[in-house]
Order: sequence, then structure tokens, then C-alpha cells
Amino acid sequence: MVEELDLRINEYLQEKFSLSVSKSSYFLHSNWQEFCLSIGQDHSIDSFYLPRSFQAHLNQDSEFLTLNFLHEFFGHGLFAENHSKGRELHDLEQILYEEEKKNFQDKQIPIKELKSFREDNPVYKNIVQSYDENLNLQEGFAMWLEWLLAKEFLSEDAFWEKQEVYLRRFGKEYQNNISLVKEFISYSKTLTPHALLFDLGLPKHYDKNVLLEILNKIYGKKFDDLQLVLLYGSQKPESDIDLFIVDQESYNFFNGWLDVYAVKEDEIEMVIKNLDVGVTDALFTGELIHGSKDYLTNLKNRALSVPITEKAVYYNLSKSKEQKEYHEKLDDERQKKIALSYSLSYRRNALELKKGNKPLTLKKLKELYDFEKLEERTSY
Ligand SMILES: [Zn+2]
Repeated sequence: MVEELDLRINEYLQEKFSLSVSKSSYFLHSNWQEFCLSIGQDHSIDSFYLPRSFQAHLNQDSEFLTLNFLHEFFGHGLFAENHSKGRELHDLEQILYEEEKKNFQDKQIPIKELKSFREDNPVYKNIVQSYDENLNLQEGFAMWLEWLLAKEFLSEDAFWEKQEVYLRRFGKEYQNNISLVKEFISYSKTLTPHALLFDLGLPKHYDKNVLLEILNKIYGKKFDDLQLVLLYGSQKPESDIDLFIVDQESYNFFNGWLDVYAVKEDEIEMVIKNLDVGVTDALFTGELIHGSKDYLTNLKNRALSVPITEKAVYYNLSKSKEQKEYHEKLDDERQKKIALSYSLSYRRNALELKKGNKPLTLKKLKELYDFEKLEERTSY
């Protein structure tokens, strides 16, 4: 069963999330107690994952073998291989491993001695700290993926039956795990499984349809009011997702991974007339996700044909001031940085407009700026 599922599930994960488990391996143990004793592990737990070696170890005789396999190999494996916190833990474990090898000179290490060596080791302290800090994130994700894969490949009931047995076996403490997975399941049902992965900090791989599904969930009935949705910004798996939206009501929001910059439909004309570089950049560099192509072309043509006015210069300067003030009020470092960079861009845009240049995109604005700096340096 386990061997047969391995390939099928990796294919599924690759196709759905563009993620897979490729460095991890799994081991089925017929004598679980003996194996656990040999490595100093608690044998009352039927399975575990070792981030140090990317290994899932499973009690072959467990009634939940297949579910445990989903949990350890795919849940913890995917996290350890793909999440920045997972990789961080693996790297720390590798450093500790090297130190242990050096200290014990490759001899078979008695568990007791190893334990006392680790107690005084600063790397080990970091590992414990990193593990504690990310326990809910890691465990919640592994349980949620176990649930998702059980639903797809076994049955959802099987997952919940295991939770009941584990609750009886491990007592009240396990209730936390159940609450945790319920929270994760609820998020993924409300905003889609992709949204959950993005929220947890896993690499963001998506296409137009993934984004449309999420937007449908966020906006609900109001989705039909969206005139235009553009995807812009860096679009890297580790970066936030930047969307530019023209809407009837318009509100900006940032939820930790999705940054929506919205302009009201009846204000877009005015904004373009003022050559707002935050908006024209989105129009000229963004990918059309939703709305009519003609509408977008129309807006772009407007930006290309409007004359540069004193009002536009003043508008960009006041936007620069607004972003600067916004920057001072913010606490979040990332948002602070973005606001400051926008403040600078608006200011530079105003200066270019004054000179008769119309940059329209941040890239062009930077090119103009770099060129002028070069000219300044080379003119004596
Ligand atoms: Zn786990």
C-alpha cells in the first residue's frame, strides 16, 4: 500500500502545488520497540520524522501505518524540504551531526553520553529553540496534509478515526493537535488549500486559476464588481503576491502574503491623468488575470497620450509625502520598507515629469535615475 502510494501522491502534489518530496526516504520497521530503543526514541509513538537525515520511520505493525506514512513522509517531509524553517532546522542538525562526529570520533555513541554532550552544545540549544518556535506550524501542516491526502487517497473518516484513537491514547495534550488541524482545515476550506500553503510560508507556485479561485473566496458576490485584476511585482515563490485591482468600492489590503492595491473605477481616469507611477507601473508590467483586455489597453493608451501637467508633478510629490508619513506610522518592517521605496519612487517620478520625461514604470524610472547619476559622476 505504502509503496504504491508513494509515486501517485508525489505526482498529485507536483501537479496541484508544484511541490514534491524528493530528498526524504522512509523505513518500515518490523521490530519497532527494538529500533526505538537503539536510537533513544520513545516507542509509544508509532512513527516519527528526522529532519537531520530527511528520514521517516514507521512502525510496520501500526493499525495506522498508511496514515502515519502520509503524516511523516509527506507532511513532515514536504515541510523539511520546502519550508525555509524546515531547511533551517535541517542545516542546524547537519552542523550538530558534524560536531558529534568530531567529538566521538565516529565510534558507536552510547545514548547517555550523546545526551549529555548535547545538553551543553549551543547548536543543540538552537535546534530545540527552532523546533519549539515552529512546533505548531510544522505539526499543524503535517496533520493538515495527512488529512488532505487521506481525503484524496484513502478516506476522510480514516483520518478522524485515527484522531479519536490518538486522543484516547495520548490524552488531553493531543486535543491541541486536533484543534490545530481543525483550524488549518477551516482556513483551507474558506480560502483554498493553496492559500493555506501561502499563509504558512511555503513556496508560492500559482497560475491565473489558482488566484481567481482565491479572489472568488475573498470577494464572494462582490467578485463580479471587479473590473480589472492584474498580477504584478516580482512573482517569486518566496515573495508576496501583488495584485492591482480596479473595483467599484476599492480597498487595499495585505494579509501576510497577498498585497492588493485597489483603485476605484470612477477614480482611475484622474489617477492616470496624474501619471501615478504606482498605478501606471501595474498597468504596463502586470499580467491580466481578470477583466477585459480592451479595457486594459484603453487605460494604457490614456496614460501614453495624457500630457504632463504641473498638477501631475504636484500629485506625485504629495503621494511621496503620503507614503513617507504612512511609513512612519507602520510597525511591520516589510511594509515599512515598501512604503519608503514607494515614497522615493513617487518623488523621483515627480522630478522626471518636471523634466518632461514620462517613465510610467518603476523599471524605466530606475533606468533614468541610474543614467542621471552616471552623468552627474562623469561630468566635471
Ligand atoms: Zn507530526
